[in-house]
Amino acid sequence: MTDFTLMIHGGAGAIRDPHRYEASLRAIVESGARLLAAGSSALDAVAHCVALLEDDPLYNAGRGSVLNADGAAMCDASIMDGRTLKAGAVAAIRGVRNPVRLAYEVMDKSGHVLLVGEGAERFARERDVAFESEDYFRTEARVAQLARAKRKRETTLDHSEPADAKLGTVGAVARDRNGDLAAATSTGGVVNQRAGRVGDSPLIGAGTFADNASCAASCTGVGEDFIRTALARTAAVFVEFRSLRAEEAAREAIRYLVDRVDGRGGLILVDREGRCGRARSTPGMLTATFVAGVARVETT
Ligand code: ASP
Repeated sequence: MTDFTLMIHGGAGAIRDPHRYEASLRAIVESGARLLAAGSSALDAVAHCVALLEDDPLYNAGRGSVLNADGAAMCDASIMDGRTLKAGAVAAIRGVRNPVRLAYEVMDKSGHVLLVGEGAERFARERDVAFESEDYFRTEARVAQLARAKRKRETTLDHSEPADAKLGTVGAVARDRNGDLAAATSTGGVVNQRAGRVGDSPLIGAGTFADNASCAASCTGVGEDFIRTALARTAAVFVEFRSLRAEEAAREAIRYLVDRVDGRGGLILVDREGRCGRARSTPGMLTATFVAGVARVETT
């Protein structure tokens, strides 16, 4: 038996060929679980898992970030400590290998919660955060995907239709052996997004939230929907003030997202008792959990 809980996600949407994510999700959740088993904090474990997801080009974060309309990978990330309610986030940054590590530095060392663009990149250099060249982010798959998205936009008037059916943001939530909660989320945004567009992932309360009094939550989906419903915080309110368990709170939060803004996406959460929940309004969502010594991957 273990007394910690960890859950990660690799995005939601209409996931093509879900099996190709299984080995990676399992390896990453097991790696995070080893840290928690050795006594690491929930905060360090979620940062570790999200950094591994960012390094894997399969996911839309860090290395595998989708490209915006200018052909650039612009990343957003955030992290929150449920014990202290400290949080850090970055938005619209370029070239940083692990945006979640920079978000951690913002939380720990900047005295601020959110840094954006060039100022965030300057802070990254001051803190010796690793950078990569543009080529590192321009994977063949992403370049082809952007070309497809641009073509579709020329031939369709429906701009609300996502250019790619899968919204592959990544995130992690955990409860450690001390009962402390933490959450982190990282993304390259949506394919062909306007330069300067920021989604929910770096916004505390929208894409990420953690509070020992309720739960740790990380969201994925159409960011605008999650911002307008403050969805991560909404899920926490359901746990804290309606005493819902993780699974019910996740389901209710997604019900609220759909009822209020017809929103598309999903979320994962770990509640204050260490129970896990996941829910989505999309056809699929990639998640892995580690509870009571057992890793479980779900791709639907
Ligand atoms: N939520 C992200 C955003 O809107 C996209 C995603 O989840 O894939 O930037």
